[in-house]
Amino acid sequence: MSLLLRIQGKCGTKPPMGIKKRSFYQFTLTELQELFAENSLPSSGPALLFNWHYKKRMIAPCETDLAKVSRAFVADHLDFYLPEIDLIQESADKTVKFLFKLHDNLKVESVLIPFNNKYTICLSSQVGCAMKCSFCFTGTQGLKRHLQTEEIIGQFLAAQRWLTQNRPKDDKILNIVFMGQGEPLHNFDAVKKACEIFLNKNGLCLAPHKITISTAGYLPGLERWKNEMPKVNIAVSLHSTIKEKRDKLIPINQRYPIEDVVRFAQDIPEGRTRFVTYEYLLIKDFNDSPEDAHATGRFLEGKNAYINLIPFNPFPGADYQRPQMQEVESFKSILDAYKIPTLIRKTKGDEILAACGQLNTK
Ligand code: SAH
Repeated sequence: MSLLLRIQGKCGTKPPMGIKKRSFYQFTLTELQELFAENSLPSSGPALLFNWHYKKRMIAPCETDLAKVSRAFVADHLDFYLPEIDLIQESADKTVKFLFKLHDNLKVESVLIPFNNKYTICLSSQVGCAMKCSFCFTGTQGLKRHLQTEEIIGQFLAAQRWLTQNRPKDDKILNIVFMGQGEPLHNFDAVKKACEIFLNKNGLCLAPHKITISTAGYLPGLERWKNEMPKVNIAVSLHSTIKEKRDKLIPINQRYPIEDVVRFAQDIPEGRTRFVTYEYLLIKDFNDSPEDAHATGRFLEGKNAYINLIPFNPFPGADYQRPQMQEVESFKSILDAYKIPTLIRKTKGDEILAACGQLNTK
């Protein structure tokens, strides 16, 4: 069963015509402090605003404690526009897929995935994707554009607001995964800033191990991660350690070979990541044989690695198929022998095309 709703303009209003306001949600706390300093406003304002709009989840302008002059500045220069919810699909397992309409009418999707009456949110980082992975529905639409920080934060806030209104008893979003549309490390600046806002103590105050950025192995982004990214988890989409196969699945492997990617990911200093997870997509008769499992085991043996096995999620026009559960189990048991902690990821929301790799907003 899936339920379709079309909701127009429920989440905030567009900035008035003619006035070029900037989105409040594009600012990290440091940037907001700089903006306040440049405009000779009281320095207590930014933390108060972060608290008000993020921690207390207030939509109305902040009236308490904020100096009059700051209130006037906020009203004149900042807007609180969130992406518009265009369509909501709910599946029987309580997964919710949001289709968001952006200011230029492009669309992206985000998914709330339920766990014991709490949620993980799967966020998009780009409209479409440039990586062209052969097994991914998003890849078939190409890259339209990067999302801005406020559009990433906006997906979270709009979904949070919907939960509070519609499922007030279980409205907690505890984890964030950048596993929606796009390659997050290809949009490094916006994703990094969004993470800083998610982690900020005065902001959404998530713990570092609650945020995971998944990458197809975009090495230029990983190189920057080493010095710039706040401490969050990395997930590397592995899918094969055999060059010919990985080249076919993830074309950027030809430019950024997995060996370099893994070396880089494993070398990221303690202070900038918690741990590295490897995602292995299992495709029937392509990368699910015992030889593939042994190759993966040998490749990751002795590394500080966790593996998530994801059975392929089909989508319209896909060339690949999902293996039987028995194949998935035997793949896992081979990895177990290499002493690599391995989890089989349960698919949620696939009836509404909300599972990994099923998002497409062409
Ligand atoms: N670009 C990033 C994040 C987006 S994809 C990345 O590649 O990691 C998030 C995860 O979903 C990745 O591990 C990706 O390989 C996986 N995925 C993509 N298409 C899939 C499909 N059809 N079935 C199952 N997983 C898929």
